[in-house]
Amino acid sequence: MDFYKVGHKDIMKKKLLAIATSWLGIGGLFIRLRRLFKKEVIILAYHRILDTHDDESYLFDEELISANSDAFLWQINFLKKHYDVISFAELSQRLASNKPLTGRELIITFDDGFSDNYSNAYRLLDSVDIPAVFYISTGYIGADKTFWFNEVVHAIKVAKKLSFSIADTTYDFEPSKKNKEKAIQLVLNQLKEIPNSERLNAIESLYRELDFRAYAIPASELPMTWENINEMASNNMEIGSHAVSHPILSRLTDEEMQQEIIDSKNTIETMTKKVCRTIAYPVGGRNAFTEKVQKISETAGYEYGLSYISGNNKANALNKYSLARLHVERYTSNEEFKLMLYLPEIF
Ligand SMILES: [Zn+2]
Repeated sequence: MDFYKVGHKDIMKKKLLAIATSWLGIGGLFIRLRRLFKKEVIILAYHRILDTHDDESYLFDEELISANSDAFLWQINFLKKHYDVISFAELSQRLASNKPLTGRELIITFDDGFSDNYSNAYRLLDSVDIPAVFYISTGYIGADKTFWFNEVVHAIKVAKKLSFSIADTTYDFEPSKKNKEKAIQLVLNQLKEIPNSERLNAIESLYRELDFRAYAIPASELPMTWENINEMASNNMEIGSHAVSHPILSRLTDEEMQQEIIDSKNTIETMTKKVCRTIAYPVGGRNAFTEKVQKISETAGYEYGLSYISGNNKANALNKYSLARLHVERYTSNEEFKLMLYLPEIF
């Protein structure tokens, strides 16, 4: 997951540009020109494919929904037609063979490991016959709970009162929809700044203050199972690490950092009987992974480390432990999706 929200103005600008490029009919030209002048490896970042509407009855984090099934199917058909959709295993092989890349290489990635990655994303990818890489936080797989960041949003959405303290500041809001949105942003932003042990305590005390109790988790909010993952791993999909407990790696002690990075790799390899080549750092912004995180990942045997920093990767100078990705969001229209691929610089 990421905690970075796009401003409304930004969204409008992209929508207008997308309409303009589509109206001018110059999209295909952009793709060809880019390939001529820039050899890039494009990596797309998704979280969830869910057919939930943007309505108030959805009581979890809608920001994690990257697309609904129809939009995703349109996107992967477009990618199949215009790009060479590959896995990291294939990328490594191409690089090792010393053949120049075509500039059409594109990798689809999913973060976290929600059950819809299997029931929706994998089903659609399989129908179109293209691979993707799924980054899973191993401690959640098969568990009867949802991811902590999703649960925090849920706790705020269902709260009857909205007074709580976080990072030594006390807030007292009327529990309106708008204030809840503000509180969600504020709490998630604070939680990514503090050390891991404090984060766990802060969440516990937040739940106490909001009077949040045990609840029935809808099946759609659960993580995948190992059975799901093994089926995917044996059918064209690659499984990567998203650490064990989805912590912010830079906020861990050295020992915890090692554990999260190494244990998740070992678990994935034991369960899937395949090499776990890559790691996507949880949250993934500039402050979420340090040089040390990159170093430990390299020493642990990962071939690549993925950030959540927006951008493209130069094929001949890959920043192997800080790869950039382009984010697909639930409000990304088909035209914007194309524009993001034509002109990633503005995204
Ligand atoms: Zn994540």
